[in-house]
Amino acid sequence: DAKNGGKGKLRFFDPQMQEVVARRLRLEEDILRGLEAGEFRAHFQPQFDYQGNMVGAEALVRWYHPERGILAPGAFMAVADEAGLMNRIDRMVLAQSCRQMAAWARQPAFSDFTLSVNISAARLYQAEFIEDVLGIFRQTGVNPAAIKLEITESMLLDDMATAITRMQALKRHGVRFAIDDFGTGYSSLLYLQQLPLDQLKIDQSFVRALPGDDNSLSIIKAIVAMAHSLKLEVIAEGVETDAQRQLLHLHGCQHYQGYLLSRPEPAEVVEAQLGRRLCS
Ligand code: C2E
Ligand code: MG
Ligand code: MG
Ligand code: MG
Repeated sequence: DAKNGGKGKLRFFDPQMQEVVARRLRLEEDILRGLEAGEFRAHFQPQFDYQGNMVGAEALVRWYHPERGILAPGAFMAVADEAGLMNRIDRMVLAQSCRQMAAWARQPAFSDFTLSVNISAARLYQAEFIEDVLGIFRQTGVNPAAIKLEITESMLLDDMATAITRMQALKRHGVRFAIDDFGTGYSSLLYLQQLPLDQLKIDQSFVRALPGDDNSLSIIKAIVAMAHSLKLEVIAEGVETDAQRQLLHLHGCQHYQGYLLSRPEPAEVVEAQLGRRLCS
């Protein structure tokens, strides 16, 4: 127990630990079943400029579980990752997103719209990553320039050289790239300038602390300055209040994503939102 073993020294025959392992295995099997059954679907969270125009959206995976309802990534992503299943989830989300974007691109209201899709480390470093992504573009007929792939700073650290090569290969086809959760990792200007980037996403932890937290505001100012000097777009995520939006605008942030503006929703809800804004 905790007294003799101390934190982190769990014996594998500990009944509590056994229960944890068993639960993990059940979840892993359930994820596999859900993948086969096509239960993973992309929701889309709109992104706006300061004037309130919808400029894009981010695909966020949801598990339409037959018994547990609609689950967010927090309920399954860690286990899916450890089980090596994030590749399959990412692939499915990218395919759905490209199909959706190809359909949206036929409507004039979506002409300047970009759709962001999260990529896991496992997927970026998969040998067939580039061919696979290009295959999905071909199959869905999407314009690659309408797709923005989101990666995190920590993912780049695994193998910078490979990451850069892969990003550049896709960039040649027009794909855009964003760094997600920016400010939480260890990026330097030196290596950021080597990446074919289009956008920095200010992590929601800094946004959440606004207004009132001067440290967070300082970091946001530094991120915006960095983005401007690298000629990148900057978007804030997790914008929940208009005070946050105003402050971000004041400091040069161009785009906003968060519950203040919209939750992640199925495609048809996003379409209805776009229509409403254009009509009002
Ligand atoms: P993320 O890419 O940083 O996405 C932003 C997360 O913040 C989403 O959580 C979104 O629902 C949530 N969010 C948006 N606006 C607000 C707000 O105003 N307040 C608060 N408190 N939260 C807000 P979600 O959907 O649970 O996704 C969590 C993370 O899971 C994502 O973080 C992303 O890293 C990962 N993820 C989601 N979908 C995929 C996917 O298809 N593939 C991969 N590899 N990862 C994914
Ligand atoms: Mg993201
Ligand atoms: Mg993020
Ligand atoms: Mg995140």
